[in-house]
Amino acid sequence: MSDQPPPWHDEAHHDAMGTRLNWLRAAVLGANDGIVSTAGLVVGVAGATTDRGTLLTAGLAGLLAGSLSMAAGEYVSVSSQRASEQAALALERRELHDQPQAELAELAGLLQARGLSEEVAREAAEQLTERDALRAHARVELGIDPDALTNPWHAAGASFLAFTVGALLPLLAMVLPSAGLRLPLTVVSVLAALVLTGWGSARLGAAPVGASVLRMVSVGALAMAVTYAAGSLLGAAGV
Ligand SMILES: [Zn+2]
Repeated sequence: MSDQPPPWHDEAHHDAMGTRLNWLRAAVLGANDGIVSTAGLVVGVAGATTDRGTLLTAGLAGLLAGSLSMAAGEYVSVSSQRASEQAALALERRELHDQPQAELAELAGLLQARGLSEEVAREAAEQLTERDALRAHARVELGIDPDALTNPWHAAGASFLAFTVGALLPLLAMVLPSAGLRLPLTVVSVLAALVLTGWGSARLGAAPVGASVLRMVSVGALAMAVTYAAGSLLGAAGV
C-alpha cells in the first residue's frame, strides 16, 4: 500500500478549514454590523445633542440591542442546522442497525465513486464499518463530522462578541473625546475600520478587495450621513 492519504482525508481537511473560514467570516461581518449600526446611531444622536450622557446611553443601548439580536439570530440558525444534522445521524444509525449489508454496499459505492477500485473500496468500507460505522457514514455520506457539530451557544457567543467589539469603536470615539473632536474622530475611525473589515471579508471570501472595501466604506458613510441629517433636523426642530 502506498502512504497516500485516504480519499476522504482531503474533504475532511477542507471541511475543517471551511469551518474556520466560516467562523472568521462571521466574526468580520459581525464586527462590521456593530461598527455600521452603532456609528449610524451615535452620529445620528450627535446631530441632535452634544450631551455626553445621552450619547453614551444611546450608544450602549444600541450596542446591547444589536449584539443580543445577532446572538439570538445565530443561536436559532445554528440550532436548527444542528437539529437537522442530528436527525440525519439518527436516521443513519437506524439504517445501519436495520440493514447493515445495504449500508456496507452503499459506503463501498461512495468510496468507489471517489476513485477507489471496487476491491479496495469494499475493503476500506469493511474496515471503516468495523471501526466506527456511523462515523464513516456521517463523514463520507453526509459530510458531517459527528464529533464537531457546531454548538449553538458558541456561535451565539461569538456573534455577540464580534458585534460588541465592532460597536465599541464608534461608541468610544464618540463619548471619549471633547465635543469638538467627536464627530471627525468617529467618522475617520469608522471609515478606517471599514477599510479593514472590507479587506478582511474580501480576503476570506476570495473576492476582489477593492470592490469590497468600497462597498463597506460607502455603506458606512451613507449610514452616518443619513442618521446625522435626521438627527440634525430633529435637533433643530427641538424634538
Ligand atoms: Zn449510510
